[in-house]
Amino acid sequence: MNPKEVLKYCQDNSIQIVDFKFNDLPGLWQHFSIPVSELDEDIWKEGIGFDGSSIRGFQAINESDMLLMPDAGTAILDPMLEVPTLSIICDIYDPTSGKPYTRDPRFIARKAEAYLKTTGIADTSYWGPEMEFFIFDNVQFEQNEHTAFYNVDSVEGSWNTARAENIDSDGNPHNLGYKPRYKEGYFPVPPHDSLQDLRSRIILKMMETGIPIEVHHHEVATAGQCEIDMRFSTMVKMGDQMQWYKYIVKNMCRKDGKVATFMPKPLFKDNGSGMHVHQSLWKDGVNQFFDKDGYALLSQTATYYIGGLLKHADALMAICAPTTNSYKRLVPGYEAPVNLVYSARNRSASVRIPMYNANPKSKRLEFRCPDNTANGYLCLAAMMMAGLDGIQNRVDPGKPHDMNLYELPKTEAKKIRTVPSSLDAALDALEKDHDFLLQGGVFTKDVIEVWLDYKRTQEVDAIRLRPHPWEFHLYFDI
Ligand code: GLN
Ligand code: MG
Ligand code: MG
Ligand code: MG
Repeated sequence: MNPKEVLKYCQDNSIQIVDFKFNDLPGLWQHFSIPVSELDEDIWKEGIGFDGSSIRGFQAINESDMLLMPDAGTAILDPMLEVPTLSIICDIYDPTSGKPYTRDPRFIARKAEAYLKTTGIADTSYWGPEMEFFIFDNVQFEQNEHTAFYNVDSVEGSWNTARAENIDSDGNPHNLGYKPRYKEGYFPVPPHDSLQDLRSRIILKMMETGIPIEVHHHEVATAGQCEIDMRFSTMVKMGDQMQWYKYIVKNMCRKDGKVATFMPKPLFKDNGSGMHVHQSLWKDGVNQFFDKDGYALLSQTATYYIGGLLKHADALMAICAPTTNSYKRLVPGYEAPVNLVYSARNRSASVRIPMYNANPKSKRLEFRCPDNTANGYLCLAAMMMAGLDGIQNRVDPGKPHDMNLYELPKTEAKKIRTVPSSLDAALDALEKDHDFLLQGGVFTKDVIEVWLDYKRTQEVDAIRLRPHPWEFHLYFDI
């Protein structure tokens, strides 16, 4: 839609509220609303002011007045609200300079798409994230300044909080059996899979908003782990869709009295939730990653792209797996990648080349390290920048590793580079290695600096300085 069409749509569909959504730096949607009568032609030119100092990652600027410029092309009837509401995603502008705001994640993705064209390597990038998440019945937080405990009761009853009784706290029947066996959530039919209907209702809502869905299913973890896959799309569009995806999942679960979480590792000793990202580069409608004679049907371009991903992987992790919890997922034994190698055959490698068919159009690679705590726009942009750097500098990724990497002999295993073991280490890597992100002005120095500072002070230190529940188990009676 263009601005005129938006106004007409509002009249034709009795829209009462217009909701403006935008992204903070860590990646959570923020919003505010106006009555539809306030939507005039000036809004599209002049924007709408807000206080940038209260938004995470934006506060360091001295001038806190910021502008939102609604992107009419993103207008969608919000599928979750009772009152007819049109949602519009906004770009953020700095009113002093009149320019797009460097810390607006969507702006960074827009610049990445424009930069790709200037390289001559390709004109379009396609992205297919496989987002996984948990749906729980009930999550109780007991938090104060010094401790943070949580208990999770899952839909199927998590193995590590399994309860003997068959009645839940509201007196309803609970826990009637047919739980998926440990790590066998992928994927027996109902009643083992008790979330089928809810997931179906979720994808129908997603499709209502225009997001094409390819598949939904229960995932491997025992306790309510789900996956819904969207059809691949271009970068900014996919960034927008990833936000709609989380919004719809969280709100649909809330309406059912359940709660969804995208945190990578909510349950100790069970599979975590990842976000494998399928990616390919296209030029003039031709997939640049395909070559019928290459290893796993990959072109030289794709091989160098992998070289770039692996070369910059440590720094990339600070953006693609950007929370302290991310590193509780990236450990051996739970289908999450640990080894920085590539392979057509196995899922223990960080880069997998899917081999379902030999169609040039479907040739792509899958980077398995990211998780859903990443800001989608930044994550996709950063991966592409690493891949492009690999292509431009002909970075050789070495030989593929087609053996099961979890079962390598110790001496062999030692030779393989692994992902950083903590957010702290990933941030240190990003501090040292970020020139590839600055190419074409896609990421800017101030974004890298505020990211490092925000993540170190608000997350790494926040966790490091608090006594952990398990420390009481280990040390309280020492
Ligand atoms: N949950 C796994 C991960 O963390 C992936 C499982 C799968 O899709 N094969 O990456
Ligand atoms: Mg999948
Ligand atoms: Mg999966
Ligand atoms: Mg996958």
